[in-house]
Formats: sequence, structure tokens, C-alpha cells
Amino acid sequence: MKVRKIAANAVAFSYENIEDFVTNVFLVETPSKFFVIDTYCGSDAMKPVLERINHSSKNKEIIVINSHFHWDHVWGNASFIGKDIISHEICRKFLDEQWEKQMKHNRQYILGRAEKQLPNITFKEKIIFYDEGIELFYSPGHTIDSISLFDHNEKVLYAGDNLEKPIIYVENNDIKTYIKSLKNYLNYKPKKIVAGHSLDLKEEDIFSAIEYLKGLSEGRKFTFKTDYERKIHYQNISMINKK
Ligand SMILES: [Zn+2]
Repeated sequence: MKVRKIAANAVAFSYENIEDFVTNVFLVETPSKFFVIDTYCGSDAMKPVLERINHSSKNKEIIVINSHFHWDHVWGNASFIGKDIISHEICRKFLDEQWEKQMKHNRQYILGRAEKQLPNITFKEKIIFYDEGIELFYSPGHTIDSISLFDHNEKVLYAGDNLEKPIIYVENNDIKTYIKSLKNYLNYKPKKIVAGHSLDLKEEDIFSAIEYLKGLSEGRKFTFKTDYERKIHYQNISMINKK
């Protein structure tokens, strides 16, 4: 696991326990709160995050965000019992229905404890923490329950799994809605963009994701450099052809 500063008020914890992926958890510190964006694969993965929080300040409120329902972003929720955990309302529903199933199918990736701990606060469109300059908003794309966070102080966009390099992962066949969510990102004029599996994204990565999705929906032919990209691309094609 590596810790990197990504903004004046934020660090990324990057984990490499899952093959093919680096997965990021973000910690944003504001004057009175910590925002933990995603919780990776269990309580052991959350230990360094909690250590950093306790080292910096014991008096600030901790707010946990689940960007979407996938197991590699939520299993560490068990480390935050009694804290507020926020997600989209669909995310909570999916987690309630699929927590055990996701654990069964990906058991080898559990780090420490990963028992079911659902979000206790949900929303439909957005939640704004005005004093903190933190906005959470609905951004369906990668999955139908995906949310994003924008930090108005540092102009950092936390895009969940909606953006990813070298190729985005489409797990929901509503491509029009995905493109709409990506175009909405541009309205925030982010200075920095980070995501669940990629750091250092730029506005041009939003444009190329939009282009890729358009091509995908038109059946355009793409060429890729790596087997990994080809594999994900074929998965994306079969996903959008699902009725
Ligand atoms: Zn995901």
C-alpha cells in the first residue's frame, strides 16, 4: 500500500492486492471533518487510514462515502460502525441484497473483517456539506448507483469508477446516461481528477471516455495495445448488448 498526497487537504491510499488493479481510498480533511472515500477490502486495509486520522486529529467527525456497491470499495465499512456512511439509495439497496454473494465470490480478497455494514444515510441527487465545501452527487455510469464527490476548495473531482485508465469498465448498459454523467463532470471545471483505480486523470480523459462510449454504442472498431484492454473492451461490448 502506498500513501500519496493528491491535494493540500487529501491523500490517496493505493492498494495492490487485486491483480490488474490498483485500488484507491481517499482521505479528505476539512476543518471539522474527515471524508473517507471508499473502504477497499476490509478492516485491515482501513487500519492505516484510521491511524492517519487519529494522528491528525481525534476530534473531527468521520464521514464515510461508498462510491458504488462493488466489493472492492465497501468491505472496510466494518471499521466504521457508529460513523455516518453515505451512498446513493440504490447502492444501499444493492449492498443489502448482494453483500453476502459478493463476499462468497471474492473471498480471497478479504483483508481482515468485512462483515455487512450498510450505509446509514442515502440520497437521490446530491448532498452538499456547505461549511466543508464538499458536494456529493449522483453520477450513474460505470454502475447505476455510482456517485462522485467534488471538493470545491481544492477543485478536485473524485469520480469513483466512472473514469479509469487505460480503459473504463462498463457495468451498466445505459450508455446515454453514462455520457451525461461524464459531461456533467466538465461543468465542475475540476483542476484535478482522481478515481477508484486511477490517479492523475485529466479533462482529456473525460473526453476520451465519452468518445469511447459513443463508439461502443455505435459498434465502432477499436484497437488496443494490451490484452488487458482488449479483455475489458470485449466485456464492455457484451455488457451493452445485454437487454
Ligand atoms: Zn466498480
